[in-house]
Amino acid sequence: MSHTLEITDLKVHFPGRHGAPVRAVDGVSLHVAAGETLGLVGESGCGKTTVANATVGLQAPTAGSVRVQGTELAGASRSVLRDVRARAQMVFQNPVTSLNPRMTIGAAVGEPLLVRGRAAGRALRDQVAALLEEVGLRAEHAGRYPHQFSGGQRQRIVIARALALRPALLVCDEPVSALDVSVRAQILNLLVDLQARHAMSTLFVSHDLAVVRHVCDRVAVMYLGRIAEIAPRDAIFAAPRHPYTRALLAAVPEPDPAVQRAKPRLPLAGEIPSPANPPAGCRFHTRCPIVVDQCRHEVPPLRRVGDSDVACHLA
Ligand code: SF4
Repeated sequence: MSHTLEITDLKVHFPGRHGAPVRAVDGVSLHVAAGETLGLVGESGCGKTTVANATVGLQAPTAGSVRVQGTELAGASRSVLRDVRARAQMVFQNPVTSLNPRMTIGAAVGEPLLVRGRAAGRALRDQVAALLEEVGLRAEHAGRYPHQFSGGQRQRIVIARALALRPALLVCDEPVSALDVSVRAQILNLLVDLQARHAMSTLFVSHDLAVVRHVCDRVAVMYLGRIAEIAPRDAIFAAPRHPYTRALLAAVPEPDPAVQRAKPRLPLAGEIPSPANPPAGCRFHTRCPIVVDQCRHEVPPLRRVGDSDVACHLA
């Protein structure tokens, strides 16, 4: 049986300012199994949002394959893309720009059902009421406008809208980054509950490993357009094998000061290089604390080490 999402050797290149293409995504392969949540993490500019956009048909691949429940998106017709967009829904970072300020939240949540002819009239109102309650809002608030809600409530409305067509795949791009710290856990718990209740597959994009740890079964770490490491959650947090994963984890603050003091310090030197001019060999070699000569000219393939797939010559 095919996975809910299967990405194979995906490349997304954009025209660069000085002639050289910007290799935002440069050979990424990953999958999300039925009912699974995969975290996709990395610093800003690593290509994770471009992968997310390609997954819901918002970004055409330059090369490679993106399949949702077996349907190929690369080179797909508009009608195929439209069909896939019903099965793969995206929740964006900012609930303010995701909602039309002039549309009631009931109309916003019901719009996908209405546009696709799935429900109208009384049945539509009933489904909207059920969706609002499912995300922890009150059905009688359907006639209100987005500005009458808090940031956390607005993200609940966006999630209700994404759930309306009962997608097989939910793609969440930094869904709590724009929210107050105090409401982040509530939204993450809601996503975990919904994912379990509907056995949805989820691709969860975040720069924040602490957030990913809370919600994901497996974690893929991206660096400069490529996968550095993919592993089950517990393996990646207990025994990170790629130096970049270790550096990201070292930067996550521990709530217990004793644990924090005992943590190894692995400062990440320098800035992430430009994807228009990525380093040869291992793309992490300009910042890697254990770089050896081989790293500067040989690309490390992704290979199995323990429970992890790691792209490092020294793993
Ligand atoms: Fe560091 Fe070399 Fe491994 Fe790249 S391949 S992460 S430069 S040790």
